[in-house]
This record gives sequence, structure tokens and C-alpha cells, in this order.
Amino acid sequence: MKIRLIVMAHPDDPELACGGTLAKWTEQGDEVHYVIVSCGEKGTWDKDASPFRVAETREQEAREAAEYLGVKKVIFLRHPDGDIDFVHTLKLEIASLIRKMKPSTIITHDPWRRHFHPDHRATGFAVIDAIMIARDWHFFPFLREIDLKPHRAEELLFTPTDEPTLINDISKTLDRKIEAIRIHKSQLEQLPHWEERIKRFSAEVGKSPGFKYGEGFYRMSI
Ligand SMILES: [Zn+2]
Repeated sequence: MKIRLIVMAHPDDPELACGGTLAKWTEQGDEVHYVIVSCGEKGTWDKDASPFRVAETREQEAREAAEYLGVKKVIFLRHPDGDIDFVHTLKLEIASLIRKMKPSTIITHDPWRRHFHPDHRATGFAVIDAIMIARDWHFFPFLREIDLKPHRAEELLFTPTDEPTLINDISKTLDRKIEAIRIHKSQLEQLPHWEERIKRFSAEVGKSPGFKYGEGFYRMSI
């Protein structure tokens, strides 16, 4: 059994980025946890919508999608959507959670991807910084005093990425990924032809290792 920690900016990011891999992991008995940095309260095209309502809806959708995939826990950090790069405490928050949860795998956005979203880039960089804080003894000595001892994860996976070094076969779990994305009802209108696009993209990613459908990651050992 492995512990896998997914740290992403918005409520629908985990399923969109790697839902097929997450379904595979929970099916094989791994423990999967999400940390969602913002509630995605600006993620609507309705100019009259209340961001508070949008946040509430999106948190609920994220919980349901996570439950559907067998994810053990979803933690919302509730930082402002669109402004994650202003959150100076983020790396310490993530580091504390890494020390507490002791994951062997950490997944986040690739901050060097060419088609980044500013929140994805900020979250990706915060996770990289957090891994170092979580790993070494002398960062933030108060963490030891509250019994959060250093933890070194085995690997960091960036997804989506422009240059995958690891491709997971999701041929058997693509349907579950699609169903999990469908649970994010409030977002589907903003993702025209999403189902078709995901199938096409996954087929393309899976092509080189000979999978029907794949999800790509850039893997770093920690
Ligand atoms: Zn996002």
C-alpha cells in the first residue's frame, strides 16, 4: 500500500490531470489524498454568480468526485482562486501536510509547462519548495516541536507535462476518469467537447508505449 498525495490548484484539477491513474491506484489499495489550494470560486462564466456560492458548489463536486474515485481525504486550503502566487504561507502549509501524511508519491502541476495557468505554476513551485522543507531537519524548527518530523517522499510527478518521462496505462480506467469529471457539473459548460478531447489526448499520450489510453508525467526522484 502506498500513500499518494495530490496537490492541485482547483477542485477539478486532479481528475482532469490524472483521474485514470488515481482510479488505478485506489483500485490496487493505495491511499490517495487531495490537497486543493483554492475553491475555484472564480470558475464561472456567469457574471451575476456569487463567488461564495461557486466555491461551495465546487467543493461539493470535488468531494463527490473524490469519493467516486475512492480517495480517502480531500483537504481544501481555501486560498483565493487566481491569486495563489500571493500566498506566502503555501509552501509551509504543504510541507506540514507532507510531514503529517508521509506520502511516497506527490503529484502536482508542472510549473514549467508551456500552457500553464498562473495558479498551476504557483502551486507547482510551492510544492517543490515544500518538499525540501518537509525533507530536511532544520527548516522551520517549530514543526518538530509539534511532532511533524521530516519526511522524504520517493517521487514527485508533474502532470500534465510537455515532456513525459513516465506514461501510465489508463485503458481500463479512462471510463472512471470521465465519470469523475462529469461530477464537476458546474464546469462542464466551460469545457466544450471535453469528453472527446480527453479521449483523443489520452490516446495520443498512450501511443508511444502502445497503450490504448495513457496519462503522462514528468518524474523526479526526491
Ligand atoms: Zn486548474
